[in-house]
Amino acid sequence: MVGCGRDYQGMINRGNWHRLKECMKKARRGEKIITGFLGGSITQGSLSSGPELCYAYLVFQWWREKFPLAEIEFINGGIGGTTSQFGAARVKGHILKYKPDFVLIEFAVNDENTEFFQETYEGLVRKTYMDKCKPALMLMNNVRYDNGINAEQQHLKVAQAYELPMVSMKSAIWPEIMWGRLKEAELSPDGLHPNDAGHRLVAQVIISFLEQVYAEMDKEETLAFGEGDRLPAPITANAYENAIRYQNFNSESKAEGFLEDLSSQNGITDIFKRGWTASRKGDKIRFEVEGTEIAVQYRKSVNKPVPVARAVVDGREDQGVILDGNFEEDWGDSLHIDTIARHAQEGKHTVEIEIVESHENDVAPFYLVSLIVSGNENKNNILKNMEDKDKMKPILFLNPVFKETIWGGSKLREQYGYDIPSDTTGECWAVSAHPNGDCVVKEGEYQGMTLSELWEKNPELFGSCGLDRFPLLTKIIDARENLSIQVHPNDAYAGEHENGSLGKTECWYILDCPEDAALIIGHNAGTEKELEEMIRQGKWTEFIREIPVKKGDFIQIDPGTVHAIKGGIMLLETQQNSDITYRVYDYDRLSDGKPRQLHIQQSIDVITVPALSPEDSVKEAANLPANVMNELISCDYYKVWKLDVTEPVSIEQTHPFLIMSVVEGEGCVNGRKIEKGEHFILPDGFGKVELEGNMQLIASSIK
Ligand code: ZN
Repeated sequence: MVGCGRDYQGMINRGNWHRLKECMKKARRGEKIITGFLGGSITQGSLSSGPELCYAYLVFQWWREKFPLAEIEFINGGIGGTTSQFGAARVKGHILKYKPDFVLIEFAVNDENTEFFQETYEGLVRKTYMDKCKPALMLMNNVRYDNGINAEQQHLKVAQAYELPMVSMKSAIWPEIMWGRLKEAELSPDGLHPNDAGHRLVAQVIISFLEQVYAEMDKEETLAFGEGDRLPAPITANAYENAIRYQNFNSESKAEGFLEDLSSQNGITDIFKRGWTASRKGDKIRFEVEGTEIAVQYRKSVNKPVPVARAVVDGREDQGVILDGNFEEDWGDSLHIDTIARHAQEGKHTVEIEIVESHENDVAPFYLVSLIVSGNENKNNILKNMEDKDKMKPILFLNPVFKETIWGGSKLREQYGYDIPSDTTGECWAVSAHPNGDCVVKEGEYQGMTLSELWEKNPELFGSCGLDRFPLLTKIIDARENLSIQVHPNDAYAGEHENGSLGKTECWYILDCPEDAALIIGHNAGTEKELEEMIRQGKWTEFIREIPVKKGDFIQIDPGTVHAIKGGIMLLETQQNSDITYRVYDYDRLSDGKPRQLHIQQSIDVITVPALSPEDSVKEAANLPANVMNELISCDYYKVWKLDVTEPVSIEQTHPFLIMSVVEGEGCVNGRKIEKGEHFILPDGFGKVELEGNMQLIASSIK
């Protein structure tokens, strides 16, 4: 095996090990450790034959094996062909938001060995190191195996200034190649990207360093920068630490011909998403930004020809920068950055991007991915406004979870277009953090996280309301057949009899039903004695009360209310996130040859007698005023509204969070297209919500 049996030392700056030692002690105590890796294509795992053979994964494996008591999490933030300039703008969204304990950064073969990249690298390092999660930061330099070049000279100055450990492949591996003890071809097929053996060797150099720290873990280490009040001054102009990346979901622009790409993004390496496209000469897009550094990120395409654009700052056409979407390489489309303003005057600037050349045979549009803007916070406060914008919380779109049930049907596919598992699918859990069906965020910066994870890790999105779990559950139910007749306890009864569980309050909005549809709501017993007699003696025809319903009716089911959905009905249910149900009667049906269990005593205990009158049980909500939030119910556990949109509506999101379900039609929310069957959450402090189109929404919150 290449390099086997030798210990390759790559430490070129020892730095301070305080944070690393604390991190290892935490792992030794069995606490959870999150490891994050940020870099270019090598970190992404390019040319390793599988993601588990990438050096980053191998280093994560070391943490796992070294600390078997701890749960170790792995976050790969590698994106091929990108520099620390982009790194500074994305480290927050791609690494720091997970609150990592250990972070490794590599950009030495992506950055050029220039002062410009010393500044961008310093910005990235400062931003990571000074983040409030205080990660143990380790710096690593890859090297070109064909000529020994990397940006180490510039990067090393940053490592020294902040006393950060740095290991170098230029120091560990390159001399071995020079002296002929290792062969370049055995490590890398292209002189740059390591193969599996190369990745193993890189990992070995990093691990050898970590082993040294491990061996000295219990030796005292002086406090590192940032632990006390000692903060080193930047060694460069440091204009990149506060870089922010603007894409179509977090920026405002004036476009003529440039179109927002609203297709969903599949992970951070799905890079040509959330930007804008343009095809015709003269198409324009204009931004107003605040800061001193401005860069444009766009696609350079290997499939040619594509249009060429030009970026102009503050109307100075003579200094315009050509953004050529055509790429004269063959290794794939490139996410290219051009800096269009550097150390410019502080304050507001306009950026106009215009297509200046298009061709009849263009094979793809020009793709503008983002604008990256930053300024020096130390010099002024102009970034305040920009940071506020950066904090603008995203709309959380969720992927539903489907439940097959014996009584379910196929309307969730036929009417809502969902990809359901079978023709007996009864429930779509549209907004749920319940362990039996935890919805996953579909797109944007929290993509891939479950709602329960998001609730736990980012409570600020939900108004930090201090509840132990996401409190609501929104479902769409398709009942092909009758559901069993049931009742839910209240919190007090459930707390006493069901291991401290919560009771359950729910409500229904009828989405669709046949002409003569009815629901079972309440019962006909006049006294508790009568109730007990009817249930114990099985006088079901006397006991059961059916109430006719139609599309657009709304029913609140308080605890103690006997209820059942009848075949043919489709409804949207908003409920407390709990599941204590007592089955009163199941029509004497058999399931697997046996009747399903009934809960006779509990039902008698909790059913309210007498029931609410039929008139008070069902509320007509079909013809409420359009373009306003109509409150359907406000109870201790939730509020529910109905909103029919027929013209542009602006509402203010002032609740801890607001769940919205599109149940009819289509339209837009803050410019993002939405359609029937989509469900989303507007987080706390979201502010203004602009809705337009022709659609019906059901919304809910906790207060
Ligand atoms: Zn129920």
